[in-house]
Amino acid sequence: MTVAVALRDAAKLLAETSGTARLDAELLMAEALDMSRSDMLLRAGDLEVPPHFERLVERRQRHEPIAHILGHQEFYGREFLVTPDVLIPRGDSETIVDAALSHCPDDARILDLGTGSGALLLTLLAEKPNASGTGIDASLGAMAVAASNAARLGVSDRVHILHRNWSEAGWRDGLGQFDLIVANPPYVEEDADLEPDVRDYEPARALFAGKDGLDDYRIIIPQLRALLAKTGIAVLEVGHTQAAAVTEIASKEGFSVELHHDLAHRPRALLLR
Ligand code: GLN
Repeated sequence: MTVAVALRDAAKLLAETSGTARLDAELLMAEALDMSRSDMLLRAGDLEVPPHFERLVERRQRHEPIAHILGHQEFYGREFLVTPDVLIPRGDSETIVDAALSHCPDDARILDLGTGSGALLLTLLAEKPNASGTGIDASLGAMAVAASNAARLGVSDRVHILHRNWSEAGWRDGLGQFDLIVANPPYVEEDADLEPDVRDYEPARALFAGKDGLDDYRIIIPQLRALLAKTGIAVLEVGHTQAAAVTEIASKEGFSVELHHDLAHRPRALLLR
C-alpha cells in the first residue's frame, strides 16, 4: 500500500475521534517515516507505508494527543518537547507572548509562574537575546521538560528553572524582582466537561483551579506587586469567559488592566500594570 492510500484510510478512521483527522494522519505518517511532512507528501505516491504507522493511528484513535505521540509541539515557530507532565502548548497562548513582547524591555528580567514546558518563558528569551528569566513549577517532571527545552533553544545560560509551589508559604523567597511576569495558570472549572484528549492525557494540576477556575488567580495576583520591579508588568492568560472576573480581582489589587484577544477574537490575555 502506498502512503497516499494509507493517509486516506487513516483520515477516515480518525474522523471519528479527531476534528483534524487528515492533518493528524499526515503528522503520524511523517513521524513513522522520520521525514518532514512536506517531503512525505511530495513522495506519497511511491513511498511504502512503514509497519508501525498503524499503531500510531490506534493511539490517536484512543484520543492520545498528537503532541504526546510525536513527543513535541510547535509553539511560536519553535519546537518544544512535550511529555504528559506538562500542558501541551496551545496557539491561544501565543497571545501572551505577543502582548509581552510588545511591552517588555530588551534586557527584561522575566518570571514565568507555572512554566510547564517553558513555552512562554523560553520563547520570550529566544526572541529577546538580552533578557534573562526564571521559571517556577511545582512539578519536578515539568521542570525536567523545561530544562531540556531551554537547552534545545540555546537559552540555558539565561534561565533558572526552580521548584516552587505558590500554594506553599515562602514560595517567593529569594526570587528577586522582575520587569515582566507571565503566567498561564490552571483556570478550568473543576467540573468542566473537557474533551477526552485533554481530560485523560494532560496533567490535572495544570488545568483545574477550583469550582470557578479562579483559585490560582486569587492566590497569584495579590502577590504580583512583591515580585514586580517599579515599572514592571504582568501578562496573564485567562479562559475566554474569565476576563471580567480576573479583571475585577486585579483592579481590587490596584492594577490597571489591558485586554488582549486571541486569533478567534476571544479575550485571552490580561496585561496588568
Ligand atoms: N486552555 C486550556 C484548555 O482549555 C487550559 C489551560 C489552563 O488551564 N491554563 O484546555
